[in-house]
Amino acid sequence: MTLTGHMLIGQHTVAGNRAAIHGINPATNAALEPAYAGGSAEHVEQACALAWAALDAYRETTLSARADFLESIAAEIEALGDELINRAHTETGLPPARLLGERGRTCQQLRMFARTVRAGEWLDVRVDNAQPQRQPLPRSDLRQRQIALGPVAVFGASNFPLAFSVAGGDTASALAAGCPVVVKAHSAHPGTSELVGRALARAVKACGMPEGVFSLLYGSGREVGIALVSDPRIKAVGFTGSRAGGLALIQAAQARPEPIPVYAEMSSINPVLLFPAALQNRAQALAEGFVGSLTLGAGQFCTNPGLVIARKGPALDEFMAATAKCIETRAAQTMLTPGIYNAYESAVKALAENASARIVAAGQIGTGANRGQAHVFVTQAANFLSDHNLQAEAFGAASLIVQCSSDDEIRQVTEQLEGQLTVTLHLDDADLEQARSLLPTLEHKAGRLLVNGWPTGVEVCDAMVHGGPFPATSDARTTSVGTAAILRFLRPVCYQDFPDSLLPAALKQANPLHLRRLLDGQREASNHGE
Ligand code: NAP
Repeated sequence: MTLTGHMLIGQHTVAGNRAAIHGINPATNAALEPAYAGGSAEHVEQACALAWAALDAYRETTLSARADFLESIAAEIEALGDELINRAHTETGLPPARLLGERGRTCQQLRMFARTVRAGEWLDVRVDNAQPQRQPLPRSDLRQRQIALGPVAVFGASNFPLAFSVAGGDTASALAAGCPVVVKAHSAHPGTSELVGRALARAVKACGMPEGVFSLLYGSGREVGIALVSDPRIKAVGFTGSRAGGLALIQAAQARPEPIPVYAEMSSINPVLLFPAALQNRAQALAEGFVGSLTLGAGQFCTNPGLVIARKGPALDEFMAATAKCIETRAAQTMLTPGIYNAYESAVKALAENASARIVAAGQIGTGANRGQAHVFVTQAANFLSDHNLQAEAFGAASLIVQCSSDDEIRQVTEQLEGQLTVTLHLDDADLEQARSLLPTLEHKAGRLLVNGWPTGVEVCDAMVHGGPFPATSDARTTSVGTAAILRFLRPVCYQDFPDSLLPAALKQANPLHLRRLLDGQREASNHGE
């Protein structure tokens, strides 16, 4: 397919009329064709008007029609074949094998939401039948279901050009909830965005969905992005990126006459606690696992282990020596964009120049453009506790080891942590008591706690939580990965004393959708297959 550089507003391809951006090959800094001219306020207006016009028809599509649509998007993305992988590789520097895996995850995610939609549990139907004889007052007939929040603005992530971009987790969960989506393409992979956007638009057409269900806009976040978030027809925002970008969108959303929720995933350093027995028994293996997780994908994962916390002593010295040996062999890797590379270099420089941190080891220096060199630093707990800068995310393969003199200092360090996506515990049986005593604090800090593993690698499933207290995300009650992500884009509506003929299908007395309702306080057994 020839890339055109055009936006997609519903089924129309539209040329922008604002400053153009080009994709950049980060391995060479070469600008890629075509140019992507930015959208204007009128383009935002058109996309939002179409999305609003699509809302009521789209949110009442049957469960099977909506699920078919999600599956059709997955099939259209797969049909793009190598062209998608090649373009994404050229625009992001990510290896083709990684991108093949990411495409699989993207399509699996869409199919998982299709299954979720079909099962209908997300409608969370609750029925309290009328009790006309109740004394002293009769009870009305009350029925609740979840409905779509409204059109959603999605800002794709630079570090997941497929799984968290145009047809990624935010889009898939919003569409599953019945919300039309307007995507502001990430400027780091415009061609990849166009390919996936066109695939999605083809699925809209093939499935007979209202055209405003999906639009794709190009342009700067500060212009198109803010205009989109400010449009009164947009009812929620999904975002993955920097803390500054997320906060700017939250501010814009809060400044509207009608403020709306922004589900922003921003910044996390994913602490790893090495407990004494584990460290004593397997310092070498822990170092290998740590360096593997730290340097995966040039460290450009939101779950990258950017902080290690442990008791000072010979076992930690052994871990640091093994880490140094391991990291020194690691080649520098191409980072996603020149901007992200420069931000990483600045963050590493700030750590190197911080008098209270010292370098443990660094990876090999790169020879081409935008090659990020891995770094591990060490500091003392007292310094970490007094210098908030040591908690700043260095997005890339950099990590800080915090040496603690006592268990109490470990507790103080964990209590001072900002909100995180993950906290990892490496422990053996002898460490269980100490781990148990820290758990209440750690639960306050993170959305996912894991034992004897590494935080990179986020399973897409029902039980996953990819979220956490600020600044990991802007809403600690939610997850952006897994089927529970759909809940962000729903709200409950209660129908009181409605005649059955006026009720939506999900709430009718005969339960035609065979949902497992909460009926007069009892959860019904599944009616599927009856
Ligand atoms: P970003 O700069 O936050 O950009 C993400 C999206 O938000 C882009 O579409 C961008 O538009 C838009 N945007 C940025 N600032 C905005 C503002 N002030 N107002 C409105 N929209 C705005 O993130 P990035 O370029 O992907 O990466 C930059 C840094 O983000 C990294 O160095 C890293 O620190 C962090 N990051 C974190 C994660 C994570 O998962 N925690 C993931 C990726 C990146 P434009 O197209 O105009 O840029």
